[in-house]
Amino acid sequence: MQIITEPRQMQAIAEKLRLNRQLIGVVMTMGALHEGHLSLVKLAQETAGIVILTIFVNPRQFGVNEDLHRYPKPFEKDLSLAKAAGVDYLFAPEAGSIYPENYQTTIECGALAERFEGALRPGHFSGVVTVVTKLFNITKPNIAIFGEKDAQQLAIIRQLVDDLNMDIKIIGAPIVRDETGLAVSSRNSYLSSQERNAATILYQGICHAARRVADQERDLRAIACEIEQMIRSTEGCRPDYVSFVDEKTFNPVEIAEAGKEYRLLLAAWSGTVRLIDNAKILG
Ligand code: AMP
Repeated sequence: MQIITEPRQMQAIAEKLRLNRQLIGVVMTMGALHEGHLSLVKLAQETAGIVILTIFVNPRQFGVNEDLHRYPKPFEKDLSLAKAAGVDYLFAPEAGSIYPENYQTTIECGALAERFEGALRPGHFSGVVTVVTKLFNITKPNIAIFGEKDAQQLAIIRQLVDDLNMDIKIIGAPIVRDETGLAVSSRNSYLSSQERNAATILYQGICHAARRVADQERDLRAIACEIEQMIRSTEGCRPDYVSFVDEKTFNPVEIAEAGKEYRLLLAAWSGTVRLIDNAKILG
């Protein structure tokens, strides 16, 4: 595995790979690698000949009161995990080489980015699509894998690629969960063991929704309220939002139509840790 920190060097390598007709798959992460990230690498290996993994804690997607400065950075561990997973190139730039002193350009998102995470984290998605675009230009992928764990982000990136005519195939990868159902996340390392137990309420909420819909409950707003109540009655937990949305538009849906697929979005706090989760629910 080759480790690269300079955008120009990464670009030159990617260009050469493309001239040699290699299919490049990219997986973008903020590091603190876990099973979720590694499942994306595996999917990239199954669909592309060369896998580039990027590790970059993008300051522009963190709000002022968010966890940029305490975000975990176990770089040596990440290196060995990436190597063991068979990553071909690890691109891990410094913030200064991605955003040099005179850096000015930001990509603006549209309606998809206005609700849910976008409403609660102003500027977050603009920071995400700006860095994703830069990393696309640097790694020149044919294929890019993103996790369904960040479902709204995935939808926004699909929109970005369509809107800006980027010739990149976007693949969504299923959510990896631990044995308790908690979606694996770098931020789970902030949780105390009590908070971690409490956090499983998100997955319990998802299971509750699946059962209620299977039992012919059509009122999705009512089910979302039940889940919010479940979260509120769990010690140390409070919901930010629970909502069923249309898969494509992310517009909230109140009444389920039989046979239609929806996405249930959840965001909640366990103690001081904010967690997001989601699931596809068949109406
Ligand atoms: P992050 O490092 O949190 O920015 O995540 C990098 C990529 O990994 C994103 O595409 C995430 O959606 C994806 N990802 C994070 N956690 C999981 C998970 N539990 N299962 C699947 N993909 C994930």
